[in-house]
Amino acid sequence: MNAIEESVAPMATFDVERIRRDFPVLQERVRGKELIYLDNAATTQKPLTVAYALQHYYTSENANIHRGVHLLSQQATFSYERARGRVGQFLNAAEPGEIVFLRGATEAVNLVAHGYGRQHVGPGDEVIVSQMEHHSNIVPWQVLCEEKGATLRVAPINDAGELLLEEYEGLLSERTKIVAVTHASNALGTVNPVQEMTAMAHKFGAVMLVDGAQGVPHMSVDVREIGCDFYVFSGHKLFAPTGIGVLYGKKDLLNAMPPWETGGGMIQRVSFEQGTTYADVPMRFEAGTPHIAGAIGLAAAIDYVNAIGPAVIAEYEDELLRYVTEQLEDVEGITLIGTAKEKVGVVSFVMDDAHPHDIGTILDAEGIAVRAGHHCAQPLMQFYNVPATVRASLAFYNTRAEMDALVTGIRKVREVFK
Ligand code: PLP
Repeated sequence: MNAIEESVAPMATFDVERIRRDFPVLQERVRGKELIYLDNAATTQKPLTVAYALQHYYTSENANIHRGVHLLSQQATFSYERARGRVGQFLNAAEPGEIVFLRGATEAVNLVAHGYGRQHVGPGDEVIVSQMEHHSNIVPWQVLCEEKGATLRVAPINDAGELLLEEYEGLLSERTKIVAVTHASNALGTVNPVQEMTAMAHKFGAVMLVDGAQGVPHMSVDVREIGCDFYVFSGHKLFAPTGIGVLYGKKDLLNAMPPWETGGGMIQRVSFEQGTTYADVPMRFEAGTPHIAGAIGLAAAIDYVNAIGPAVIAEYEDELLRYVTEQLEDVEGITLIGTAKEKVGVVSFVMDDAHPHDIGTILDAEGIAVRAGHHCAQPLMQFYNVPATVRASLAFYNTRAEMDALVTGIRKVREVFK
C-alpha cells in the first residue's frame, strides 16, 4: 500500500500518532514551540490525501466540467459528480441530486432563506432559531423576516448552554414556517436534539434546517434519520479545502425552489425571444464554474474521515474533552461557558481579571492556537453577559499531551493575572 492508500484504508485501531503523520502542519513549530492546534472549530487542518487530490486534479485532470466533449472534461466531470455521490452517502441522502455544492455553510443558509424562505414566509409568519446560533444562521433569517413582515423567535437555553426543549415546543405554532438550528454549537460545543426538534417542527408544518458546520466533523450524521429538510456544512471544517460547502435538501423542496444566482451551467435553454428555462436541481443552484477541485478535495476528506470512522472519532474526542474539562474545572478563577451533557469537543471559558484576547496571546507565545472572541455568536455572549470567551476546539488529531500543555498554559496565564 502507498501512503495514500494506507491513509484511506479502514483503520483497524485508532492510532493518533499515525494520524498526525498525515497532517504535516502539525509537525510545524510556531514561536519556537511545537504547534498545538486547538482552533478546529474555525477551520481544520488538511490531511495529505486532500492535498494530493488537489494536486492530482490540477496536474492531471484540470478541465471545466459538464460542457466539454473532450476526455479531460469528462474525467473532471466524473470526479466532480463522484464527489457529490460521496457527500450524499456520507449524509445518507436519498440520492446525489439532493446535494448542492456551494461555498460553505453561510452560502447554503442564504440560499435556503432566499429560495425557500422568500416563497413561504409572509407577514405574520414566524421563523425560529436558537439562542446559540452562529451569525450565519441568524442574519439571513433576520433579513428575511424584516423583508416579509415576519417575526424571528428565539428558542432559549439554560445556563449550561442546553436548548430548552419544552420552551422550544411552546414557540411552535401554525405561524412557524422555518426552524433553523445548529447541530452543535461552535461556541459551547452543545449538541442539540435535532431529530426530536425536527419531529416537533413537522407537526406544525414547518421545515427544519440543521446547521451542521460543527456536526459533521465530530459525529456520524444521517439526514434521513434526523428527518430534517435541509442540512448545511462547510468543507473546510471537515478537513477539506476552503470555498466548498454543501446544502443537502429533500428533492421535492429543492425542486420547488427558484434559482438564486443565474448564469451559465444552471440553464436548460436561453432565448431572447422565449426567455430562459432552468436546469434541474442540483445544477439549478450551481451557476457558473463551481469549485471543482474543492469538491474533489471534499470527497478525499470524507474518505479519510470514513477510514477512521465517525463513531470512532466521536468516542476519541469525547474522551479528550472529558479529560481536559476535568482539569480545567480545577483551575482557580476559570468559569467554563457551556457545560451541556451532550457536547462535541469545544471548551469555552473566561478567567477572572484577564481578557480573553490577552489569554489567547499568552497561549500563542506557548505555541497553542486557540480562539478568543465572540465566535460569531454575539447573542450567545449577551446571554452569558461576557464580551468574549477563550475557545479550545478539538479534532481527532489532538492528543492528551496537548490537553496537558493547554492546562499548563492556562495555569501560567492565571499566575500573570492573579
Ligand atoms: N455555522 C456554524 C455553527 C459555524 O461554526 C460556522 C463557522 O464557524 C458557520 C456556520 C459558518 O461557516 P462558513 O464561514 O464556513 O460558511
